[in-house]
Amino acid sequence: MHQSSATHALDIEAVVGAAGVDPSLGLSEADVVDRRARFGPNELAERETTSRWLLFLEQFRSPLVLLLFGAIAISVLAWALEDEGGLPVDAIVIAVIVLLNAVIGFAQERRADDAVAALRRMTAPEATVVRDGDTVRIPASEVVPGDVLVLAEGDAVAADGRVIESAGLRVAEAALTGESQPVAKTTAAVDADAALGDRVGMVFSGTSVTGGRGRVIVTDTGMESEVGRIATLLEDTEELDTPLQREVDLVGRTLGIAVIVVATVVIATTAALSDVSSVSDLVDVLLIGVSLAVAAVPEGLPAVLSIVLAIGVQRLARRRALVKRLASVETLGSASTICTDKTGTLTKSEMTVVRLVTATGAAALTGSGYDPVGGLVDADGHPRADDREVIRMLGVGARCNDAAIRSVEGRWTAVGDPTEAALLSAFAKVAGGIGLDPTERQGEVPFSSSRKRMTVVIEEEGRHRALTKGAPDVLLDRCTHELVGDEPVLLTAERRARWNDEIDGLAGAALRTMAMAERWLDPDQPIDEEIEHDLVLLGVAGIIDPPRPEVTDAVAEAHAAGIGVVMITGDHPATAREIAAQIGIAAPGSRVVTGPELEAMSDDDLVDAVAEVVVFARVAPEHKLRIVRALQSLDRVVAMTGDGVNDAPALKAADMGIAMGITGTEVSKDAARMILADDDFTTIVAAVREGRAIFHNIQSFLRYLLSSNAGEVLTVFLGVVAAGAIGLRGAGGDEVIAPLLATQILWINLLTDTAPALALGVDRPQDDLMARPPRAGGDRVIDAVMQRGIGLVGLTMAVATLVMLDLGLPGGLIDGDEDLDTARTGAFTVLVLAQLFNALNARSEDRSAFEGLLANPTLWAAIAVSAVLQVLVVHVGFLNDAFGTVPIDAGQWLLATAFASSVLWVAELRKWLRRRS
Ligand code: ATP
Repeated sequence: MHQSSATHALDIEAVVGAAGVDPSLGLSEADVVDRRARFGPNELAERETTSRWLLFLEQFRSPLVLLLFGAIAISVLAWALEDEGGLPVDAIVIAVIVLLNAVIGFAQERRADDAVAALRRMTAPEATVVRDGDTVRIPASEVVPGDVLVLAEGDAVAADGRVIESAGLRVAEAALTGESQPVAKTTAAVDADAALGDRVGMVFSGTSVTGGRGRVIVTDTGMESEVGRIATLLEDTEELDTPLQREVDLVGRTLGIAVIVVATVVIATTAALSDVSSVSDLVDVLLIGVSLAVAAVPEGLPAVLSIVLAIGVQRLARRRALVKRLASVETLGSASTICTDKTGTLTKSEMTVVRLVTATGAAALTGSGYDPVGGLVDADGHPRADDREVIRMLGVGARCNDAAIRSVEGRWTAVGDPTEAALLSAFAKVAGGIGLDPTERQGEVPFSSSRKRMTVVIEEEGRHRALTKGAPDVLLDRCTHELVGDEPVLLTAERRARWNDEIDGLAGAALRTMAMAERWLDPDQPIDEEIEHDLVLLGVAGIIDPPRPEVTDAVAEAHAAGIGVVMITGDHPATAREIAAQIGIAAPGSRVVTGPELEAMSDDDLVDAVAEVVVFARVAPEHKLRIVRALQSLDRVVAMTGDGVNDAPALKAADMGIAMGITGTEVSKDAARMILADDDFTTIVAAVREGRAIFHNIQSFLRYLLSSNAGEVLTVFLGVVAAGAIGLRGAGGDEVIAPLLATQILWINLLTDTAPALALGVDRPQDDLMARPPRAGGDRVIDAVMQRGIGLVGLTMAVATLVMLDLGLPGGLIDGDEDLDTARTGAFTVLVLAQLFNALNARSEDRSAFEGLLANPTLWAAIAVSAVLQVLVVHVGFLNDAFGTVPIDAGQWLLATAFASSVLWVAELRKWLRRRS
């Protein structure tokens, strides 16, 4: 279609005509199919994605892999110097393994990408359109030119279009025009050459609705839209590394440096000690360097890490928590404060009007849910004659209303805002039916969480009448009269105080409160916020919104886990306090800070306040950002829920912004890192628990893999340094050789280690993770305790391996009679089996491996797989050739197993000592 260059200058009729659509019916299914074929999906063309080849090559970019390339080069050099003919087996095996690693890494990265893409689809933006006469939600990518787009506060505008209806529609266009203030949209045509920012009759894809409502005929979609044409604007922002990624990188760099230092020292000392006189001596020294390099690099780690994170994200999704990025899993696990909305998140959001207060008295309303069955009763439960004041007040509540109630299979449900639906049901109960005389709206001033009120203007008896409803404390200030019987009577100070008592009474009973008021307008008075004063108060309704039953337990669980729960609500302070007490967020009667109070506080005062106050009421979304900042300045890792457009800044600023999947606006979903598919607070706590579990597992396999590397490095290092003591001599007698071959070490790192590491990564943790405080912000993933554990286990492995070697070899402290290959195979087997024993250790830093020893069948299966692999490498001919092994006998296997088990006993001793202290 591409007509946006002119559409803004056309009359609505002309636009509608050109679009070929009836604005009240929208497009038909056939039209849509046809247009989609013509215009394509409403998507911006993907930027050049990294080609598969590049992604594959990227696998070789890590410094650790470069180190391995160095090892290959040195092996080839050694082979050439040796000049013995045959193949450079070492170099080939290392090369094959490096290649294999890259393939696995590549496959994993693609899998992780796919997982993220699947999540993207689940959290893809949606749009509301009219199709075949029905208003439906569809994925934004399916919008076509000619669609009638329905816009409401919080919607992301899905395509460019011409406004055909506007009720106070305001749109933030900063992304497109740089204009920071929202722009009011009307149906007016403007000059053909008007700048983008001046086209008030148009809305543009990529902007968002900050207020009001409207309808738009879509003119351009996808790359034809204004953003499409300046697609560079949407250049993806680089994702920042998370602490975990940084730490893994740091491990890599530290290892790289350590290897170079250790290798230099080892090579220098051996060269000095054994006086390198021949080429073959030089070769041996170089090969030691290769073994060391290979030993220090945790080749399998990156692949295991990305698999574990991807699986974690899927687990979270199963719990109805959709995180948008793999790395958020980690943040989730370290959350120390959860700031949550009340309505719908902590409460069921199934609202029922139960109390009504008018000028002449109070009444109760019977019935439950949205079912319009029930009636007025007095304080003693006796039915009351219908009450003029009540009917008048609820009539306003029902007209100043955008919701509907519908009976689906005999059950009445709310369509739209539950609070408004409750008022509709209440009106039906007192007026005897859900029908309202049709009145056309002359205009409206929409609701927003900051204004906490809304007004619609209708025509009655030839005059304009404004019907207002909103938070009673806000509305009372704007009322000058109250309705007594049929007559407005001036509100005295005394009556005002009385009303305030009534409102407090309702709120104190945990009821959500809503006041109704009205006034007559002059016919030519413009309809805007200015009309919301001099109102006549009709009455106040008390609406019950019961807490979700499971929330109390979830709050208790969060508290036990050292996580603070803060309620931030737009509701009345007394309602908030009461609900908070009911579900255990705060002790009864505890302090509540209100939005206006918060407004008056300096940043420092606010920091003091958030340190103790856990209930904030009558807050506007803007206040949430300040609360987040204040909590963060106390080093809290803040998770914050939100649903409205104005919540977006707070969601972005929070460590973990959480949007509501059902009631959330597109803008809030965009700003959040996690989306709650069911809007339920319980899900947040479950997600934190899952986040902690995943993090715990990451620690387990890091502990496991890094101890393995420590063991290997120490084996090579100590083996070379203490070569004389263990009888490690080459055939020539005096040259120093590596205790293990580089290929053997690679075998461990890439094959026998991988399965147990993965099993640890998907373990169901035994430790009660929700019984301990959250990780402090600055805590390392690999902390000092873990480092010491890794060092101790590594040293034990190295000693056990070297003792086995010494036992086999002639000479040294213990005299043996095996040849070098046999002794080496025995030592190699000790090291591999030691890893498998260590897999049992690695599940916890403190808890004995024997507790729940059999609780993880996956781990046992992984251990079995690795053990079989080791049997194969020792007993299968061609593997013998590739890995320099020879078959060993049962006695040697037994001995190796016994030596290897030492890591288990040593670690048990350490854990026991740790538990005692
Ligand atoms: P939370 O922030 O926990 O979700 P909330 O839903 O009560 O709390 P808002 O929706 O911002 O917060 O509502 C704030 C107040 O505005 C309510 O207590 C109510 O008195 C009033 N209010 C809510 N919905 C409407 C509405 N549709 N029309 C007029 N006033 C409303």
